[in-house]
Amino acid sequence: MSGLMQQQDLLISQLLEHAATHHAQVEIVSHVSERQVYRSNWGQLRTRAKRLASALTALGVQPGQRIATLAWNTHRHLELYYAVAGMGAISHTVNPRLFAEQISYIINHAADEYVFFDLGFADQLVALASQLPTVKGFVALCERSELPALALPHLLCYEDLIDQGSPDFNWPEFDENTASSLCYTSGTTGNPKGVLYSHRSTVLHAWTACTVDGLGLSTSDSVLLAVPMFHVNAWGIPYAAAMCGAKLVLPGPGVSGERLYAHMVNEGCTFSLGVPTVWLGFFQYLESQRESLDLSRLKLKRVVVGGSAAPRAMIEKFGTLLGTFVIQAWGMTETSPLATIGNLLPAQQALPAAQRYDIQARQGRAVFGIEVGIFSPDGQRLPHDGKSVGEIKVRGPWVVSAYYGSQAGAALGADGWFATGDVALIDTEGFVQITDRTKDVIKSGGEWISSIDLENVAVGHPKVQEAAVIGVAHSKWQERPLLIVVPKSGQSLTAAEMTEFMKDRVARWWLPDDVVFVDGLPHTATGKLLKTQLREQFKGHRLS
Ligand code: ADP
Repeated sequence: MSGLMQQQDLLISQLLEHAATHHAQVEIVSHVSERQVYRSNWGQLRTRAKRLASALTALGVQPGQRIATLAWNTHRHLELYYAVAGMGAISHTVNPRLFAEQISYIINHAADEYVFFDLGFADQLVALASQLPTVKGFVALCERSELPALALPHLLCYEDLIDQGSPDFNWPEFDENTASSLCYTSGTTGNPKGVLYSHRSTVLHAWTACTVDGLGLSTSDSVLLAVPMFHVNAWGIPYAAAMCGAKLVLPGPGVSGERLYAHMVNEGCTFSLGVPTVWLGFFQYLESQRESLDLSRLKLKRVVVGGSAAPRAMIEKFGTLLGTFVIQAWGMTETSPLATIGNLLPAQQALPAAQRYDIQARQGRAVFGIEVGIFSPDGQRLPHDGKSVGEIKVRGPWVVSAYYGSQAGAALGADGWFATGDVALIDTEGFVQITDRTKDVIKSGGEWISSIDLENVAVGHPKVQEAAVIGVAHSKWQERPLLIVVPKSGQSLTAAEMTEFMKDRVARWWLPDDVVFVDGLPHTATGKLLKTQLREQFKGHRLS
């Protein structure tokens, strides 16, 4: 017997309609550049998104076609999210920090029809344009008066399209399983792979962000989106913000510590999200300006840190300096990305701060909709006992089934789970602790050493700006850890000081065999430590 409730497809256009109807005046503040701010609201966003969808239709864009963006976080990028998906086409956010060959690979693989770009990426595109045969036109995200002469075929101006489009465009209705957006993994090994989200997966994922034990996003929040909209759809927040009617502050190209601080003060931001490197820059600024800043002006209640492990020292700094609670979240492009979220359980909320920070340094617990398990190399499910370590596998309605261009189910194992390539333990209360990626784990004499744990401890040293740990070949132990440290500017630090600091904080046999000091570390296009490059650089390094 069927239930007798209304059947309605979950569509991204409904999120915008809801926001524009019930939160029309809630602001969207867009820093198009360091000098140009555009203030609008959810009501105006709907009007402009409809105009854009209408103009795209007039250009001949069909449902299912891919529209690429190379753009920072601005209102125009947000309009594209809604217009493209709303009309049944697919918004394909391309990470402009990737290498030129990766960008052309991705655009060709997706067979994008149009590329919308911020003027800052014009030179990159001019160099690539002749290698992009599927692209019918390039649209510059600017006013007509700002459009320079560019050697791009079929160059259009975004604001012209907005002027030409009709605000009376009607969002079509279709099956909720229709594809809505496409993101490629950054492909540190092999070619990037496309993850194709659906309207249904996107709306369900947004709901999670709005639950109190999820990210707790609500209409009371002013959200500083410090994670780029090309990084897994800014972790789904552009959709979740519409669902709950939150204010959005879009920082454009500038996410320096100084800019972030200014936005937080000026826009009363209560909530923000970003990868650890962004917050390293933020604290560097706060510490360098300690005398002149009045931190009591910050109203930041919660910060979501993900993409890489949030170091405990960072969690503590947020807590003690700003009274901000860090929600550590773990996930990946393939999981939309929210999979586990680090909120405290009732009994943990009364614990002394130091113990709470320890818990927050884990990656949180599975949210409803994501099943998480750890598995041994021979596929046995391991217990959640806080000791067993294995590869995390996940399944759920916003987890990838197949990469773009392959058959449904092709990315899954025979058991139906998606193997993440992350290694973790899960404690008895369900908190996941990522210890490594399968390819980064250090195998020392048959035992595993967690590079993430060592990095976390190392960055707790007051003179350390950033640290990475990699395995280096060792004649007796197969591999041993090498610690690579970037000291804070103006600080001098010795290997002996580092070892002394770490020796009571990690198991003796985990202590790095050597410490080297460098001026900077390589990062991926999404801000993760680029360990493949470090392994190459320190291949053959002789351990002391
Ligand atoms: P990429 O940046 O490589 O395109 P993703 O953003 O999808 O890809 O990266 C996902 C990976 O980032 C995860 O598999 C995991 O290794 C790492 N990661 C994400 N969040 C965390 C976290 N909170 N702690 C530790 N590692 C994390």
